[in-house]
Amino acid sequence: MNNPFETAIAQLDQAARITPLDPKKLEQLKHSDRYTEVSIPVDMDDGSQKIFTGFRSQHNNARGPYKGGIRYHEQVSLDEVKALSFWMSFKNAVVNVPFGGGKGGVIVNPKKLSPGELERLSRGYIRKMYPILGPQLDVPAPDVNTNGQIMWWMLDEYQKITGSSSLATFTGKPIEHGGSQGREEATGFGGSVVLRETLRAELIKLPKEKTVAIQGFGNVATFFAESARSLGLKIVAVSDSKGGIYQPDGLDVGGVEKYKKKKGSVTNLPGAKNISNEELLALPVTVLVPAALENVLHVGNARKLEASIIIEMANGPTTNEADAIFTKRNVLVIPDILANSGGVATSYYEWYQNIHGESWNKEQVLAKLEKQMVQAFQDVLEVKKAHDTTFRNAAYILAASRIMDAMG
Ligand code: NAD
Repeated sequence: MNNPFETAIAQLDQAARITPLDPKKLEQLKHSDRYTEVSIPVDMDDGSQKIFTGFRSQHNNARGPYKGGIRYHEQVSLDEVKALSFWMSFKNAVVNVPFGGGKGGVIVNPKKLSPGELERLSRGYIRKMYPILGPQLDVPAPDVNTNGQIMWWMLDEYQKITGSSSLATFTGKPIEHGGSQGREEATGFGGSVVLRETLRAELIKLPKEKTVAIQGFGNVATFFAESARSLGLKIVAVSDSKGGIYQPDGLDVGGVEKYKKKKGSVTNLPGAKNISNEELLALPVTVLVPAALENVLHVGNARKLEASIIIEMANGPTTNEADAIFTKRNVLVIPDILANSGGVATSYYEWYQNIHGESWNKEQVLAKLEKQMVQAFQDVLEVKKAHDTTFRNAAYILAASRIMDAMG
């Protein structure tokens, strides 16, 4: 099953088989409230004009404004944006922030645009989308290939068109333009709190010395690795798009970061063995952390995995078929809508600070986030135990019931 929206719906249906959910509301949740497709004319540097296609899917706003990132990628499609907005509704409900789910995207390879073209495209997206955005309506954020700079252009355009001076229509902004301290480390840090709670729950027998392999070494993976190491876990493998490295005695995460900054990749690190991304997934480790791409754990490799725990830091890294294999094999899978929800929880803190004219320091943000992640984990665990089911089903049941309560 390759259509991401069908994957998302199958996950919800599976949870609905564990416990009865209101059938009418269930059906409503299988549709976005609204999706918008726009054409964005952009003046290119050579004097020509190109028309780009942009999307925004607003899945559900029963619990608060639609919330979710804007992605720039050549493979962006309406189905992908719809699936991602659906997952945002559930993620926000699991971590219990008062937001619904939204997601946007533009079909473009931003690496082929000059900075000027990128700015004109980002401002053009807002000129077409501004009527459906706003602090109480729909609050975008960065996603794949977008960043704080792009959010700042978008906010500036939004403010010029609408006359609004509120900073709260976008999150993930640079700190000097109303962004929040702690946002950069939030997703990885939040995931490590979830891992710590998973270990404390003692749901399965684990070796005394716990090892971790992480696919990816970007924003989420590096902060996850640093926080996990401070919990006393041994990070033995990391990777990037060029390949991975393995050191059974443990990697010096800070040293790997410096090395990657200098060389552009983690591969060929002196003292570590080069491995492929596929080999990394099958290493004999306690915890496997996919923190890069979608659909990397599939029916072709699920039986080869040796990890006892999978922490889904990427969005949608496990196909439904692989998930069924992990359940059968008693592998604990901590689903993305719980594991990586620290990012959006901190986006909520940014939105809240903007609305109330406050500015919290990093320690305040991370302390608040830690509490929120522990609570989210405990809430999901309670449902898991009550229904004797997987973490994924439990997270869906919890989120669906919170959203359905708010739907009235
Ligand atoms: P990033 O761009 O900073 O890092 C991505 C990493 O993946 C890089 O190390 C890159 O080299 C690696 N990568 C790319 N192609 C690869 C390949 N073919 N094989 C192996 N590795 C490959 O992105 P990020 O912000 O760290 O996001 C990682 C994942 O986490 C994504 O799935 C994203 O949707 C998800 N996520 C991110 C956040 C956030 O706050 N950044 C929040 C929730 C979910």
